[in-house]
Amino acid sequence: MTSTPLPGTEDLRARAKASLERVGATLPDGAGLRARTPITGEDLFDLPAARAADAEEAAGAARAAFPAWRGTPAPRRGELVRRLGDLLRAHQDELADLITIEAGKIRSEALGEVREMIDICDFAVGLSRQLYGRTIASERPGHRLAETWHPLGVVGVISAFNFPAAVWSWNTAVALACGDTVVWKPSELTPLISLACARLLERAAEDTGAPRDVHRLLLGDRAAGQALVDDSRVALVSATGSTRMGREVGPRVAARFGRSLLELGGNNAAVVAPSADLDLAVPALVFAAAGTAGQRCTTLRRLIVHRDLADTLTGRLAAAYRKLPIGDPFDPQTLVGPLISPRSYDAMRDAVDRATARGGEVLAGGGRRPADSAPGAVYAEPVLLRVAEQFDVVREETFAPILYVLTYDTLEEAVALHNDVPQGLSSSIFTRDQQEAEYFLSAEGSDCGIANVNIGTSGAEIGGAFGGEKETGGGRESGSDAWKAYMRSATNTVNYSSRLSLAQNVSFL
Ligand code: NAD
Repeated sequence: MTSTPLPGTEDLRARAKASLERVGATLPDGAGLRARTPITGEDLFDLPAARAADAEEAAGAARAAFPAWRGTPAPRRGELVRRLGDLLRAHQDELADLITIEAGKIRSEALGEVREMIDICDFAVGLSRQLYGRTIASERPGHRLAETWHPLGVVGVISAFNFPAAVWSWNTAVALACGDTVVWKPSELTPLISLACARLLERAAEDTGAPRDVHRLLLGDRAAGQALVDDSRVALVSATGSTRMGREVGPRVAARFGRSLLELGGNNAAVVAPSADLDLAVPALVFAAAGTAGQRCTTLRRLIVHRDLADTLTGRLAAAYRKLPIGDPFDPQTLVGPLISPRSYDAMRDAVDRATARGGEVLAGGGRRPADSAPGAVYAEPVLLRVAEQFDVVREETFAPILYVLTYDTLEEAVALHNDVPQGLSSSIFTRDQQEAEYFLSAEGSDCGIANVNIGTSGAEIGGAFGGEKETGGGRESGSDAWKAYMRSATNTVNYSSRLSLAQNVSFL
């Protein structure tokens, strides 16, 4: 553990309360849900949990607000998002505090998450003047063929604990600019940051005259999420979380012909080729694998290193792992904070045991740093684990800091290993050989939604579309043209001549 003592639960409770007060949020009375901090592993507050009737009411209110919002010109909708961005900027410290308290992120990563929210607001404000359709060449004289984009309806946002605020903002800023209204069901593990974000959006709506119910917050567990999933008034369910969750949500939404946007688990890998610059690769790999205590969907979980380089690289990584400062995420020296729960640590231990039973060798980490003042908190040492082949546990996502090391001889073999997992989120190659880099990025290379060169798998910018293939769910969020998932397109054929001409030269009458 880092040398500074952990803060006490009472201090964290007071700090959370002060942050909520400063953003103007109040803690609702009730029971059913517990706000907890992984820093000490103790409970902070009791909160009410939404029931199915609350979900129904929220979806109804958001649906009722939709016509007025849809009818508001898009650049004016952008004013709401701009105001939200201003408020997020003004309250960066309070929001980062709540993210650290509830998700255990170190300070710079918590502030980074808030920065990401501000960035997507800027992006969505610009988008509110750029919801472009196309004019298409018509095959008929005197005709115009065009594509137009219209708001979709209510978007149900279901989010995970590990990006408790940014994922909401990617969805909400874009959905609001697109003319949709939103019901948000955050993770049951992070209700406090959700209350803060929802209050800031409510304030932005008050300041800009937007309908109050453009956004509704639904605090609750998966039952509240399921109610949204089954509600036919929710046009799009954008759900971020485990593949297990997506397997339940996807078919249920499809059964009512709703739309879903799924952002699910990853099993991300980096290939390190013989020409790689190791001075660049080592810190990039350590951040990708151990940053956020291995709890990012884009966390590096598999390292596929050329056989000639394997001992040198693993030696340098093991040395870096042994020096990682683990402990209080508020301490500026700390790089690895707590795991979200003891269950995460059990899953981590189980994966390590299964891998070692198959001949895997732990090269660094794997222990738990005891925190005498907080026996319920879990501070785990990130693990570096060499395996001879990609057996079952290596092909699964264990949401904890385990980096499996595999070796390869040819790049084709590396890419085959890389792609031979059920997930397809993020990937990277470290090389100074342009042919290798281009091969990795080509259609024959990485099969992921994100493929990088000389940078790790995590830490995407909001300007690009974010998401992955296969069991990662196929959704795209955030930048580029991901906005199209939040709108419906219509194809318009306009005959401005006085003759009827049918497509494909069909004659009739
Ligand atoms: P989780 O699947 O346990 O929960 C995610 C959310 O889904 C929560 O709000 C939960 O209440 C809700 N939920 C669970 N089951 C549901 C159901 N049947 N119907 C409706 N809602 C349901 O995930 P988690 O532990 O909070 O987060 C970690 C997981 O999320 C990891 O697998 C990680 O890779 C993934 N993740 C993916 C992305 C991405 O963009 N691809 C981003 C962040 C996290």
